[in-house]
Amino acid sequence: MDDAAHKQASGTEQEAREGFSPAAYPVGSTPQDPAAAILDVLRQGERFLVCSHTRPDGDAVGSMLAMGMLLEQMGKRAYLVASDRVPAIYRFLPGADKIRHLLRVHGLFDAAILLECDSLERSRVRGLEPYFHINIDHHSTGRNFAHLNWIDRDATSVGEMVHRLVKAAGATVTPEMARCLYTTILTDTGGFIFGAVRESTFALSAELAHAGADPIAIAREIYFSTAESRLRLLGAALSTLHREGPLAWLWVTHEDMVRAAASEEDCEGIVNYAVGIAGVDAAAFLRELPEGRIRLSLRSKGRLDVAAIAVGLGGGGHENAAGVTLDGPMDRAIEQILGVLRIADEKAGHSGA
Ligand code: 5GP
Ligand code: MN
Repeated sequence: MDDAAHKQASGTEQEAREGFSPAAYPVGSTPQDPAAAILDVLRQGERFLVCSHTRPDGDAVGSMLAMGMLLEQMGKRAYLVASDRVPAIYRFLPGADKIRHLLRVHGLFDAAILLECDSLERSRVRGLEPYFHINIDHHSTGRNFAHLNWIDRDATSVGEMVHRLVKAAGATVTPEMARCLYTTILTDTGGFIFGAVRESTFALSAELAHAGADPIAIAREIYFSTAESRLRLLGAALSTLHREGPLAWLWVTHEDMVRAAASEEDCEGIVNYAVGIAGVDAAAFLRELPEGRIRLSLRSKGRLDVAAIAVGLGGGGHENAAGVTLDGPMDRAIEQILGVLRIADEKAGHSGA
């Protein structure tokens, strides 16, 4: 939020704006037409916080930006806040520099809109508690933690849901918005190859291309702008590749990260190399954090539900892609996830996808 917003907010911090009556939605509300209910709240308010999850991905960044653009078209003020910096490959998105890197928010806001989060904690932005919360999510492990909740597990991306809001509001899909929304679909489907991809995904993508999203230019920004450090890290990760029937895993230590001069965004997608192996159904990528805990990324071709596995360990995600943070050290985390994957594999049987 800008300085003016800070000043304006002081003294009246975190009170609801006059005329805005969130009482209609006690925590956990799931109205029959959530998009209409959300629009109703947006129309009544003036100032909104827009947040997504920590370590933002293409859907997090693109849907935040598109939501901000929708709010602006509605004549509202949008403050986009993330607890981590926008990864370099998403900085080409229009308005990406408007996302504030903040660990705590305060001030007068009519609502905090949380995109892709299963809780306030998932945003890692502190100070959100006092506000009216709107939850828009598409994860299979999504939860009705907010006052107003809209979870569509069939949506390829939260961006797709924001697009529905834009349409319902009668707002215009500008070329800038189209680029952001197209990016959410492209990245959350791993380039139209997994997740909830279906016929309508291509129809929507065509609509967004027509509205000004250039698929080639966007793909070039995201898939052909690899940092050298990422490739060096990938080399270290691939040298640890292990395989046990339908399971594969690989990892990097903090020392590997330092040696490759890698940042955490360089880790995105490494797990896909392992799950891409013929005959492998599920894969795990583990990364040692500086403080010793372990970030785990899980991917599945479909036979195993990795969201269920991640939830069991305290994380979440989609059936095909999920994650969680585990306690270290690395050996223990590997044993832990392998134990759970072996059991899930046995339960799933050897037919299936
Ligand atoms: P990634 O492996 O790319 O970090 O995450 C894969 C998917 O799982 C993403 O949709 C991401 O939002 C979700 N995910 C990853 N880590 C966590 C976590 O710690 N908690 C929850 N709720 N979801 C996670
Ligand atoms: Mn998503």
